[in-house]
Order: sequence, then C-alpha cells, then structure tokens
Amino acid sequence: HQVSSDIVIERPNNSFPKTKPRSEGSRLRILVTGGTGFVGSHLVDKLMKQGHEVIALDNYFTGRKRNVEQWIGHPNFELVHHDVVNPYYIEVDQIYHLASPASPPHYMYNPVKTLKTNAIGTVNMLGLARRVKARMLLASTSEIYGDPEIHPQPETYWGHVNTIGPRSCYDEGKRVAESLMIAYQKQEKVDIRIARIFNTFGPKMHMNDGRVVSNFILQALQNQPITIYGEGEQTRSFQYVDDLVDGLISLMNSNTTLPVNLGNPEEYTIKEFAELIKRLVGSNSRIINHPKQEDDPKQRKPDITRAAELLNWKPKISMKEGLKKTIEYFRDELEQEKVKIKK
Ligand code: NAD
Ligand code: UDP
Repeated sequence: HQVSSDIVIERPNNSFPKTKPRSEGSRLRILVTGGTGFVGSHLVDKLMKQGHEVIALDNYFTGRKRNVEQWIGHPNFELVHHDVVNPYYIEVDQIYHLASPASPPHYMYNPVKTLKTNAIGTVNMLGLARRVKARMLLASTSEIYGDPEIHPQPETYWGHVNTIGPRSCYDEGKRVAESLMIAYQKQEKVDIRIARIFNTFGPKMHMNDGRVVSNFILQALQNQPITIYGEGEQTRSFQYVDDLVDGLISLMNSNTTLPVNLGNPEEYTIKEFAELIKRLVGSNSRIINHPKQEDDPKQRKPDITRAAELLNWKPKISMKEGLKKTIEYFRDELEQEKVKIKK
C-alpha cells in the first residue's frame, strides 16, 4: 500500500534541500525500514543528500511523516505506509532495516508485536534481500548484551539477558534478528551487515519517546521534576545521531559481515546526566527518584575498537555539544506547541 504516489505536493524544485548530482550508474535504490522514525529520518536525510533514491517504509507506530516532510514530492524519494510483519516486494540495492519500536515504554506496550516485528519483520526483509540480491543492514542494539557482566562491552561478549523479564520482547527480538541475519548469510548467501547501536539521541526524537534524554530535557525545559528511575547509579553512554548515521553508512559500505558496536564511550551515571541537563537548560527543576525499573541494565559503555579498525569510525560530536543542539530542538517544539494551542 503506497502512500507516496498519492501525495502530490506543489513545491518548486529548488525548495528541496541540496542533493549531490549522480549518474544513473552510481545512484543506488535504498530501502530504509522505520524510515520516518528518529534514526531512520536522519539516515534518509543523509542518503538523499548523497544523491541516492530512497524509499522510506514505516507503519507510523512511533514514526511521523513530518520527520521526512522536506523530501515529500522529490523525484528521488518515496514514502511507503507498510508494516514489515507483512512481506514487501520492491527492487532495491540496499536495505537498512530499522523498523522496530526502540524506547522501553513503546516496545513494552505490545510485547507480542515487538517480537513479531523483529522476528517476522526481519525474515520478510531477508527474504526480499535474497530475492533481489540486496545488501541488508540490521539495526541491532546494545540491549543484546542485557545487564552486562563485563565493561565496556566488546562485540565478542555474548550477553546476559533475562528471557522472561519485561525487556525480553525487545532484547530477544533483536537477538533472534541477529541469528536470522547469520542464518540467511550462511544458508542463502545474503550479504549482511549488523550494527549494534548504543543509546543515541538528537533532534526529531518524539516528544513522547519516553527515553531518558527526551524525558529529562522536556522536564528541565518546563521546570517539572526530573524523574530518575532508581537511585541513578546506573550508567549509560550517549551518542549524537549524526555520528550514528555516519557509522551506519560506513558499515553498510564496508566489507565486514561481523557485528559492529556503534556508540560514544562517554559514560555518565543517570544522576550525573540529570544534573548536566538541568545545568545546560538553566532549569529550576527538582530532581526526584521514581521506583527502579525491573531488569534495568546497571552499566553500559561500548568498546568501539572494532569500528575504529574496520570502518575507521569514531564519534566526532561530544555529548555536551549534541545535548545543546537537542535542547534547542525541544525548546522550538515546545514553542510551536504553545502557538498551536493559542490558535
Ligand atoms: P523510533 O521509534 O523513532 O523508530 C522506529 C521506527 O520503526 C518508527 O518510525 C516506527 O513507526 C517504525 N516501526 C515500528 N514497527 C514497525 C513495523 N512493524 N513496520 C514498519 N515500521 C515499524 O526509534 P529509533 O530510535 O529511531 O530506532 C530505530 C532503530 O534503531 C530500531 O530498530 C532500534 O531498535 C534501533 N536502535 C536505536 C537506538 C537508539 O538509541 N535510538 C539504540 C539501539 C538500537
Ligand atoms: N531513565 C530515568 N528516567 C527516565 C527515563 C529513563 O532514570 O525518565 C533511566 C532508565 O531507567 C535507564 C536509563 O535512564 O537506566 C536509560 O533509559 P532509556 O529508556 O533511555 O534507555 P535504555 O538504555 O534503558 O534502553
């Protein structure tokens, strides 16, 4: 069910962002599943600017047309309303498979659907990759390491996941997705890439995303209490979305089929993180404690030696620099909401 062909937006050609001119031969057709989500829409932007043809496919569970609106009507861009749990047929050269809820409240909202999306959705995309001989990259996650017993986490670590806990639908969903990638590579010769993505933030995160960065920034901007789950001694390491997008594109175009961690090793406790955001926003918010979340990993930090060696990749944007841009984004979003309410 394609939406894009129905949408004809009157827009002069020069009002699109600049795209690199390319010959037919060097222009790839690229499918991005989850293409209207937070990471997907940034990836779509970069691939479009590189001059490729991009098909953004999404079921709009957490994605929004608004995230890709700047490309609607562009001859190289297509927007497709589709759920990856159902097969999809198209001719493409590359598939970035990002479709999956990613924020704990979203993936726990319908755990069966989260598992179906990651298992059946990945089978469907691998079937497509096999038929059309496309290279396929899976957006896997640091969650496959579970509550890790070694720190930082290298790709060789097998993980520590509770199969029957509340995070299992996502963690095990992604673990089976990795297994499927390897099985299709071995048995069906599909050309695969596996990115293990660590906590990522930036503009275009949904206001109701529910992950820590958007929660804390929105709370701080509105002088509401900043909610720490548990004592705040747990750690995370946060990367800015532009670095992740560069890493995903480098990995796709590399020749490694090994899983590769993509993250920024700058590690903070959640308590330190709350204080930092409060200070950067200049907020009067109180910092309060909510009950600890079940199975919340106690520590997380990527070992990115492999990405450095195989992709010559490392994050370029410091966490603070990224936070400042993200704070400005959410400040604007809140202003726009106020204007809408007044109207
Ligand atoms: P997001 O929720 O903003 O984006 C996910 C997108 O997938 C949304 O547009 C959603 O509507 C779409 N989607 C969900 N189920 C679908 C289905 N059945 N069919 C079609 N589309 C579907 O989250 P995000 O942060 O942009 O995450 C993108 C990918 O990266 C996910 O696979 C996630 O697991 C992975 N990842 C993200 C992070 C992070 O910190 N952002 C960390 C690790 C892994
Ligand atoms: N967290 C928090 N307050 C919030 C949201 C999250 O203290 O309002 C904590 C959460 O318990 C976890 C960390 O922040 O320890 C990161 O949570 P997030 O949901 O962003 O991602 P996760 O890495 O857990 O998937």
